Amino acid sequence: MSERTIAAISTALGSSGIGIVRISGERAVEVADRVFRKHSGKKLAECPSHTIHYGYIHDGETMIDEVLALVMRGPHSFTTEDTVEFDCHGGVYVVKRVLDTVLRNGAQPAEPGEFTKRAFLGGRMDLSQAEAVMELIQSQNEYALQASVRQLKGDVSEKIGQLRGDILHQLAFIEAALDDPEHYSLDGYDEKILDFAFRMEEELSGLIRSFENGRRMTEGIKTVIVGKPNAGKSSILNLLAGEERAIVTDVAGTTRDVLEEDIVLDGMNLRLLDTAGIRDTEDPVESIGVSRAWSHVKDADLILYVADSFSGIDEDDRRILSALDSQKTIVLLNKTDIEQISEKEINGISDQIRSVLGDFSPVLFSAKEKTGLDELKKKISDMFFAGQISFNDQIYITNARHKKLLDEARESIRLVKAGAKNHVSEDLYSIDLMDAYEKLGLILGEEVEDDLVDEIFRSFCMGK
Ligand code: GDP
Repeated sequence: MSERTIAAISTALGSSGIGIVRISGERAVEVADRVFRKHSGKKLAECPSHTIHYGYIHDGETMIDEVLALVMRGPHSFTTEDTVEFDCHGGVYVVKRVLDTVLRNGAQPAEPGEFTKRAFLGGRMDLSQAEAVMELIQSQNEYALQASVRQLKGDVSEKIGQLRGDILHQLAFIEAALDDPEHYSLDGYDEKILDFAFRMEEELSGLIRSFENGRRMTEGIKTVIVGKPNAGKSSILNLLAGEERAIVTDVAGTTRDVLEEDIVLDGMNLRLLDTAGIRDTEDPVESIGVSRAWSHVKDADLILYVADSFSGIDEDDRRILSALDSQKTIVLLNKTDIEQISEKEINGISDQIRSVLGDFSPVLFSAKEKTGLDELKKKISDMFFAGQISFNDQIYITNARHKKLLDEARESIRLVKAGAKNHVSEDLYSIDLMDAYEKLGLILGEEVEDDLVDEIFRSFCMGK
């Protein structure tokens, strides 16, 4: 363990109720006692672990703040080291002043993520759980929150551990059979290992597939709204954005009028691209082909095509639709409030509509009357989450590092499969199995290089 005793402000800087200065390391309590004066005069060093104490922070004779001090002795703390937290008043100057005093009394400034890195190095959590800490902090919706909190709890670790256990079992059997052929026979093992490799490949593929869903959970479903001018795109955007809490983001570093809006629909996060383009109603049909919204279409996970059911669907709609991927597109037949189109009539006009729509199945919509919203939500959920809006027991991979290692492990398992088909010698299986075993181990942080560990924790926020 590191000899440095570290300190940082662990809350966001700003005016708030409290701000927390955290100290961790061998000398945490000693450092805290130098700056903290408890009402009773007692030292924190004399107080039991997991107790809270009222008192003042002093810089020499200058009183700085009235605080609560929390004492947690290792290994029963987040970092597994002795830890003291000061709950200060949450002003920018006062919290910085408390930290400064702590640093001048023996602590050193913590690097970003250093507290969590110590939790990892101290064996309190594996690397995938440590990574989940940051994902949890950054989560913006229910899916991202659930995926990260489960990963933090150890669901991903458990699954990976189980797969590694299965691989290890095969490795041990091969080893035993090669060492002691009298008691362990490798007769017919090719079929057994082939069967094993099939199942393992399937398991790994399932986890890899979940990454795409995971990306949509954490980053949102990339969505564009397309349609002719006046079809009702802005109205629908406003309706969707107004539905439940809307978070409006100006994306830094992009052109000033290009906006992204994150909206949450029934727990699903839609990242609406180029909403400035959508609002630009001057855009004539001819320019749709080159409009900014169009340039996002290729990139999108979901395209909402808005057609004006009142004015009718025409050649222009046909032209635009023919360029869209029907798998990714939901057609909203908007303005159905103007002429009440019953189910029967829709079937009636469906010949005309269907000739234009082809594979696209429409949702009858009215931005004005707010109808069709439930069907739209259902379609999106069917499209991306197989209808499972509620979080099920499936494990979701949300981290690109994990996905890459799973890909590599699967590659090794495929080599085992190919080997078994060609009846290669057993020690070749061992090499590939061991490779898959190690790759999966890297997800948990086994044998990872120090540089990589440093890189992972550098992306953490200060004080975590
Ligand atoms: P955009 O050019 O595609 O963004 O279309 P807008 O959202 O600006 O809408 C064009 C016009 O259609 C506006 O006057 C809207 O009020 C109207 N509109 C949009 N949606 C509906 C709808 O569902 N019903 C009715 N009756 N009018 C609508």
